[in-house]
Amino acid sequence: MQHNIRECPHCGDSRWRVYLNAESGIGNCFVCNEGFNKLKFIHLYLGHDPEDRKSWRATFEHATECIKEQGWRPKQTVQVAVAYEKAKFPNSFELPTPEGCNLKYLEDRGINGELAKYFHLRFCEKGWWTYTKEDGTPGYQKFDGRVIIPVYDLDGEFVTFQGRDITGTAGDRKYLFPKGLPGTGRYLLNGQSVQRAKRVAMGEGGFDVFAMKKAFDEEVALRDVVPVGSFGKHLSFGHTDGDDQLSRFRTLKGQGLEEVTIMWDGEHKALLAACEAAKLLIRIGLKAYIALLPADRDPNEVTGDVVRRAFWERVPYSQAQHIKWMLKNPFKAA
Ligand SMILES: [Zn+2]
Repeated sequence: MQHNIRECPHCGDSRWRVYLNAESGIGNCFVCNEGFNKLKFIHLYLGHDPEDRKSWRATFEHATECIKEQGWRPKQTVQVAVAYEKAKFPNSFELPTPEGCNLKYLEDRGINGELAKYFHLRFCEKGWWTYTKEDGTPGYQKFDGRVIIPVYDLDGEFVTFQGRDITGTAGDRKYLFPKGLPGTGRYLLNGQSVQRAKRVAMGEGGFDVFAMKKAFDEEVALRDVVPVGSFGKHLSFGHTDGDDQLSRFRTLKGQGLEEVTIMWDGEHKALLAACEAAKLLIRIGLKAYIALLPADRDPNEVTGDVVRRAFWERVPYSQAQHIKWMLKNPFKAA
């Protein structure tokens, strides 16, 4: 479809001689022969001179405001500055590399350079993690062939990391945790990105959280949902010093968080575990929802539209719903 525009923003002729393709925004004026794209048309329409480089900023800002009003929002990329100084990793390099290279393993899973950067991923081709054993002697832990997933606290402080095997030869040691650093169970993966967000969705492992981020970014209406990871199908709570996941959610609530959607595996035990976590979240005044994935699948094992559908069809947690699910396993074919 072509838009027929009355007035040319370049020559001012107002005899309906400007045509713009409705989809691409590419077009031209048949009087002055000036060519347009969307941005140039807006720029001229606003009365700016294309040669005046400074005025382009005003055009960008104007366009951004307009599309935001129409419901568009950018991908969520803002996060607390992560503290690299204290971060210590086995010999590894940042992804993507300065040349823009990413691991094929990640690309194959839809985790492009932009996402790898957002999650501060690294790759350890060959490397040891050195730590001090309880008896004071040095210990060594091998992280060969693993993607390093750093874990930061809500304020961006480095706390620990995980090493995810990508060789497929690690057996049940898919995720490896560095000895001598705090366990992940108290933290929320990607918690440093929540800041003042109103909505978070909670997956289990790192790759679930990456898949969720990708799925949400692909739909403008879900770009405000920040994915976090619980590292297990359990929410830690009740530590006397308040150093647990529930306390972190309490902190986030204080900063504006309103609701949490739990997205663990599509499996009965995981669903009941999610109910227990939801119960805790409700107790601290958050709204809690549970998203059901297809049977025996987690967010990392389905396409983006399945993740999004699970989010849209999430069920608010209630005690009645909890009991219903206890009595009847929704993943079991009738
Ligand atoms: Zn013209």
